[in-house]
Amino acid sequence: MTIDSIKNGIVIDHIAAGKAMDLYQILGLGELDCTVAILKNVVSAKLGRKDIIKIDRNLDLDWDLIGYVDPNITVNIIREGEQVEKRLLKLPETVTNVIRCKNPRCITSVEQELPQVFKLTDREKRVYRCLYCETQAGR
Ligand code: ZN
Repeated sequence: MTIDSIKNGIVIDHIAAGKAMDLYQILGLGELDCTVAILKNVVSAKLGRKDIIKIDRNLDLDWDLIGYVDPNITVNIIREGEQVEKRLLKLPETVTNVIRCKNPRCITSVEQELPQVFKLTDREKRVYRCLYCETQAGR
């Protein structure tokens, strides 16, 4: 894979500078057996600096999760060297098992087998709260 172009794969673009590794970990990209390139601090007209992730394969990613990390991220699907699709993301209504509730009295701290579910309570400010105890998720 060259850094500039991929034939078949996914380009995750407009990631806020410094956030690429977070996204890499949340999406579990380290477990893929294909080439994944992370470009950091790329000059961008829109953001000043941005990060980009290129994945040398087409696969189904958790689009909601990417939207959760940053709804301004754009995802380009590349096939045979052509951009065939541009996905716009939005903040998901709920995220499950991505963030953990920090409240030690929360039922999820006591009952470890419960899923960690957070609900979007303020789209403007991107606030998520624990479904069980309403503790706000920290970013
Ligand atoms: Zn909680």
